[in-house]
Amino acid sequence: MSAFTPGPWIAEDAGFSGDESTPLFAILGPEDREGKREQIATVNCEEAEANAHLITAVPGLLAACKVLHAFIPSPVVHAAGSEPLLCGTCAAIAKAEGAL
Ligand SMILES: [Zn+2]
Repeated sequence: MSAFTPGPWIAEDAGFSGDESTPLFAILGPEDREGKREQIATVNCEEAEANAHLITAVPGLLAACKVLHAFIPSPVVHAAGSEPLLCGTCAAIAKAEGAL
């Protein structure tokens, strides 16, 4: 998987879709040197605003998961017998990084 656009990401109200009834939000990456932001995604559904805010939280949540995961006692959470288990935090990180 290639690297994702670094955070912070923001959600921008982009009005409505072509049918003028479905909310449309743009997900924008960090400001460049000219203060411009690249559009990295759009969200177009009834829950667009909430989904857009959730998406913009992902870079921070991923970083926080990685930091907090280091404090999980590995033998307790990750092992049953001799086979390692994929804990919920590991699974979330792997999914975010495209490994699942
Ligand atoms: Zn884990």
